[in-house]
Amino acid sequence: MGKLKVGILRYLSREDFRVLTAVEMGMKNHELVPGPLVAQIANVRSGGVHKMLQELSKHKLCSYERGKHYDGYRLTNMGYDYLALKVLSSREVIGSVGSQIGVGKESDIYVVTDTLGNPLCMKLHRLGRTSFRKLREKRDYHKNRHRMSWLYLSRLSATKEFAYMKALHERGFPVPQPVDWCRHCVIMELVNGYPLSNIREVKDVPQLYSDLMDLIVRFANNGVIHGDFNEFNLMLDDQDKPIVIDFPQMVSTSHENAKIYFDRDVRCVQDFFRRRFSYESELCPDFECDVKKEYSLDKEIAASGYQREVQEFNEEFEVGKAIHETEDSDDHEEEDESDFSGDEPEHNDKDVREMKEQTEELCKDLKDETTLGELKETA
Ligand code: ADP
Ligand code: MG
Repeated sequence: MGKLKVGILRYLSREDFRVLTAVEMGMKNHELVPGPLVAQIANVRSGGVHKMLQELSKHKLCSYERGKHYDGYRLTNMGYDYLALKVLSSREVIGSVGSQIGVGKESDIYVVTDTLGNPLCMKLHRLGRTSFRKLREKRDYHKNRHRMSWLYLSRLSATKEFAYMKALHERGFPVPQPVDWCRHCVIMELVNGYPLSNIREVKDVPQLYSDLMDLIVRFANNGVIHGDFNEFNLMLDDQDKPIVIDFPQMVSTSHENAKIYFDRDVRCVQDFFRRRFSYESELCPDFECDVKKEYSLDKEIAASGYQREVQEFNEEFEVGKAIHETEDSDDHEEEDESDFSGDEPEHNDKDVREMKEQTEELCKDLKDETTLGELKETA
């Protein structure tokens, strides 16, 4: 586990940022974004853009690749990270980036600080090109669209996580306080505690067991199911009180498989307690009898912009439950990079105009150059 080298941010000018954002935009409908198109979207001289793209490639924020039919640029993971970090530092949400504290199934977790030096937690969502491949095989995707999908999937996952965390936090659930989000990056309270997976002993095992089962029921009473309620997504504070994390897979209790998800969460806790504490209880919640829906968190979620994002995504890919389908995939084979054979997709003036406007919009968040790149590495 390493550090994100944020030093490079200091040398990124506002124009660099705009160019990188233009690559991001171009990837909406391009496997590789041709240089002249980047210049058009970014609204900079095409002479200047070439040099900037070269510089950005040198720092691995984007990469230049040759396709069979045309050449162009694609945004790298690192480039996407920097776009998010630059915005969050410009909004003065974060002041420095520290070391990585976790690698989740589909994320990287870092300790960061706010501008005063108080610790926060940063989760970078990384939903893969790899798992999306399955989805592509199942449905006939536009061949130029599958590869940029990691951008969308990761952003969608972050948006969803933030929306649920915010709604849950407002309803008084023990979850980290959400702070802000941008693209695939979520900033939240750093939980002062340890994942249950690392804990060998607790003071009162039956109490913890019943706290956790109560939480599952309380979630359901509010119309939601966590969906991945295991020892890696539960943290304990120094009073042995649980804090729940990791929300991208949450589902509504009105989902057709709600009972299955609910029972699975319950079983996760039972299995863990048997394994770790040799504890068994005949008490466990039942979806039909114990859940009394008293509130629907969906209202807050709908107001959060997440639904709009989902809709946009579905329109882009003509899919419904992309995240759930990809999560079921456990094969992590590498995408074969050599099969790229896409033609340069067509783009009309309207598309370009739209991407240009969006780029403009995304760059509005940034302050002037002098305050850019203040982000430091935590000592
Ligand atoms: P994933 O979706 O990839 O599983 P998680 O949200 O579960 O990611 O985070 C992975 C790990 O990072 C957790 O098991 C936990 O150890 C750590 N972590 C995540 N969020 C926080 C937080 N807010 N405070 C402290 N540690 C956290
Ligand atoms: Mg997790």
